[in-house]
Amino acid sequence: MNQQNPIFIPGPTNIPDALRKAVDMQTIDHRSPVFGRMLHPAIEGVKKVLKTTAAQVFLFPSTGTGGWETAITNTLSPGDKVLACRNGMFSHRWIDMCQRHGLDVEFIEVPWGEGIPADRFEEILTADKDHKIKVVLATHNETATGVRSDIAAVRRAIDAAGHPAMLFVDGVSSIGCYDFRMDEWGVDIAVTGSQKGFMLPPGLAIVGFSPRAMAALETARLPRTFFDVRDMATGYARNGYPYTPPVGLIAGLKASCDMLLNEGLDSVFARHHRLAEGVRRAVAAWGLELCATRPEFYSDSVSAIRLPDGIDGNEVVSRALDAYGVAFGTGLGDVAGKVFRIGHLGSLTEVMVLAGLSTAEMVLADVGVPVQLGSGVAAAQDHFRMTTAEPRRKAA
Ligand SMILES: *Cc1c(COP(=O)(O)O)cnc(C)c1O
Repeated sequence: MNQQNPIFIPGPTNIPDALRKAVDMQTIDHRSPVFGRMLHPAIEGVKKVLKTTAAQVFLFPSTGTGGWETAITNTLSPGDKVLACRNGMFSHRWIDMCQRHGLDVEFIEVPWGEGIPADRFEEILTADKDHKIKVVLATHNETATGVRSDIAAVRRAIDAAGHPAMLFVDGVSSIGCYDFRMDEWGVDIAVTGSQKGFMLPPGLAIVGFSPRAMAALETARLPRTFFDVRDMATGYARNGYPYTPPVGLIAGLKASCDMLLNEGLDSVFARHHRLAEGVRRAVAAWGLELCATRPEFYSDSVSAIRLPDGIDGNEVVSRALDAYGVAFGTGLGDVAGKVFRIGHLGSLTEVMVLAGLSTAEMVLADVGVPVQLGSGVAAAQDHFRMTTAEPRRKAA
């Protein structure tokens, strides 16, 4: 691929030049106060992005997957029961991880393309009179299908059932892209990584632990060493880590939080929504459909686009790369081959999205999908003209 072209995989995302520079730094003594002056502001920035004052934030050298493992191993014991919903590859993999750790996972299967059915969680929790379920797992943005779930509704379901289960949320592809409210939604553990909404290279698992999740550290018996939050907390109190910290990424994280907070979270979310809506209008103009079955599920970070029968999504993605040097996402798991994905999260502008849509049109035409060249681009242009900064343009 040509590295001057933006990428449209749903993470890792394009990296702003300022963040590339922030990550690229000379070695410092990571056991000195110099490091503390980088670490603590990065953590404070993440807390603002998570919209929490109550939680403690920890940064592990890892990825989102390591964040899942941090969440479960620090709070649960072998045989503990958790409740989840399987609606795509990422929720599937978190369930699989729980099973491999010897947890007892009850999960609801919903068709890929739908969100978490909070009402069914409420029924199950209401029926769990002995409070065997310790944790409810929720994937906020299912990156495989481009589906957003309503986390506030999951919290209401837990409360309506009068159930004490904790709520752990995978926000890897939503945090920093669209609204996430850790304290307001009563999220006990929030999990993300550096390479999606934070626009950094991969390499950090970013986790927020509520006071209840911190209390669970004392009773949890699942084995943990590298991901032990107690060791990390002890390290932070002394401006250090239990091992060598990824200093450049932590410097980058502080710069990333500053960038998001300077743009303003509401503006960041509005930008993601506007770009996502441009992509959705293009998909409609092509006569194609999203994998997400209803507007309430539409994700502002990624769109998974269903292809007509006989068209292979993997061919769409490889053709884009080979012919035009542009990366889109393939379908994963149950929707492999049936969809291709356009990531529209992180550092993106209208102009970049238009370039991606025009490339997608060429590729779709190349592989035999009957799209009118320019139709999707025009639909997105119309949307962007009418929704970008003042003054508003006249309708074409
Ligand atoms: C990317 C992603 C992950 C984790 O991915 P890593 O490759 O481990 O960083 C988890 N959940 C969701 C929803 C994701 O999009």
